[in-house]
Amino acid sequence: MNILIINAGSSSLKYQLMNPETGDVSAKGLCERIGIDGRLNHKVGDEKVVKDIPMPTHSEAIAATLEILQDPQYGVIKSVDEIDAVGHRVLHGGMEFFASCVINDDVIAAIKKCIPLGPLHNPANLMGIEACQAVMPKTPQVAVFDTAFHMTMPPKAYRYAIPTEYYENDSIRRYGFHGTSHKYVAKRTAELVGKTEFKMVNCHLGNGSSMAAIKDGKCQDTTMGLSPLAGVPMGTRSGDIDACVVQFICNKYGMSVDDCLNMLNKKSGMLALSGVSSDFRDLEDGAKKGDENCALARDKFCYEVAKYVGAYAAALNGIDVLTFTAGVGENDVNVRAAVCEYLGFMGVKIDPELNSKRGKEMKISTPDSSVEVWVVPTNEELMIAQDTAELVK
Ligand code: ADP
Repeated sequence: MNILIINAGSSSLKYQLMNPETGDVSAKGLCERIGIDGRLNHKVGDEKVVKDIPMPTHSEAIAATLEILQDPQYGVIKSVDEIDAVGHRVLHGGMEFFASCVINDDVIAAIKKCIPLGPLHNPANLMGIEACQAVMPKTPQVAVFDTAFHMTMPPKAYRYAIPTEYYENDSIRRYGFHGTSHKYVAKRTAELVGKTEFKMVNCHLGNGSSMAAIKDGKCQDTTMGLSPLAGVPMGTRSGDIDACVVQFICNKYGMSVDDCLNMLNKKSGMLALSGVSSDFRDLEDGAKKGDENCALARDKFCYEVAKYVGAYAAALNGIDVLTFTAGVGENDVNVRAAVCEYLGFMGVKIDPELNSKRGKEMKISTPDSSVEVWVVPTNEELMIAQDTAELVK
């Protein structure tokens, strides 16, 4: 089977052609500058090609993608008929979607209904879907939602303690994101530990970070909320913050709420604390050279991650497994070490030798650790491909 995976942003569109059984990617790429001019970056094996192609809308980007996939030199298929289905990453499924689903008119209407909850991403995701429907009308399309995995949370985890009308009339509640990644890691961890019934906390630590408390493969709580701003501090996002900070800043500096939220999303987090960068590698270099702000940013991050592990251990009445994934979780050896050191009080112990490797699927805890600690590289694309294949079979 060949599944085309599409992740459409407002001016970009990422694609991968994947075999859902083996996870093999035959080709992948990125259409960027959609609506500006248009550029296609395509990769097949070790070969890369960049082409300037006019892309006034997402339709031309999809057309260019299909064309290069069939190209005699850089292509991997002879005809579009070889694509069995398309899996679309969709940010916000609101209270409409508890799982991935085959796209039809009702599904499109429901994704549109979720636009107020995901105003930046859902319209772009819809453009990707509609562009694919237009150029490959016979191929089944599937939507895979970033929020769906978290829909098993109980009300005590997802309800905000604010007047009920905002929940009932406006669906204001905790949703959580990175669901496809959390789902993949939960599923893979069950295979690795050889159990289906166990309690775990997954730390998806990247440029955006979120954590999930998971029992028997089902999400019980997660750090992100109505939007991805909540939870631990991130590359450029503040994470949890007292809402009065917004009031104070808006009043004092005559800033609009939108501008203030833009500051909290794009100019805060590690970037703000360090004053140097949002990239954890830069922060590590800075800290090594004695930059106290870089050291503070990293310590604040590890401290908040550890605090949530403790909170989720309480929420789940103990945990069996702790997992690290995504750019920082998979690669930043010192972040993992610092988080686990904070958790020493609950018997978490990692082996420095095992923890010294980057980007590998591996157990890093000692045999006498109270909790198994694993690094599980995420694979959201494989999860999208598998969900898509399952639904169209
Ligand atoms: P995104 O949320 O954009 O998907 P990623 O999961 O790709 O982010 O994570 C990106 C972050 O991972 C980078 O900002 C960088 O700080 C961190 N990272 C990547 N490689 C390494 C590494 N070798 N060591 C430390 N941090 C790394």
